Amino acid sequence: MPNKSQILELKETLLQRRESILSNINNSRNSIDEIKNQEINDELDYAELVSDSFTQGMIANHQIAELKQIDEAIKKIKDDTYGKCDMCGVNIPIGRLKAKPFAKFCTECREVYEKENKN
Ligand SMILES: [Zn+2]
Repeated sequence: MPNKSQILELKETLLQRRESILSNINNSRNSIDEIKNQEINDELDYAELVSDSFTQGMIANHQIAELKQIDEAIKKIKDDTYGKCDMCGVNIPIGRLKAKPFAKFCTECREVYEKENKN
C-alpha cells in the first residue's frame, strides 16, 4: 500500500488530471458546436468538417472514459481501498501508481485483462 503522503500526492495528480480533462472536453464541445453552426456550401468542406468533429468526438469519448477511471480511483482513496489490484487484491507497486494513478490492476492482471479484452 502507498503511504499517506504518497496517496495525497497521487490524489493531487488525479484531481489535476481530472480538471484538465474537464476543460479539454468543454473546449472540444464548444468547437464542435461552432462547426455545427457554420454554414456549409461546399461538399469538400463538409467532408472535412465531419471528419474533424468525428476525431474530436473520439478524443472526447476517450477522455470521458479516463475521467470515469479517475473518479473511481478518487472514490477508492476515500474508501481506503486505493492501491489494491481489483482482480487479485495484491498491492499495486507505487512506481506503477505514479505512472498511472488510476491503475486498477497490478501489472500481471493488467496483461491478463488486456488479452481477454482483445478477443
Ligand atoms: Zn492483480
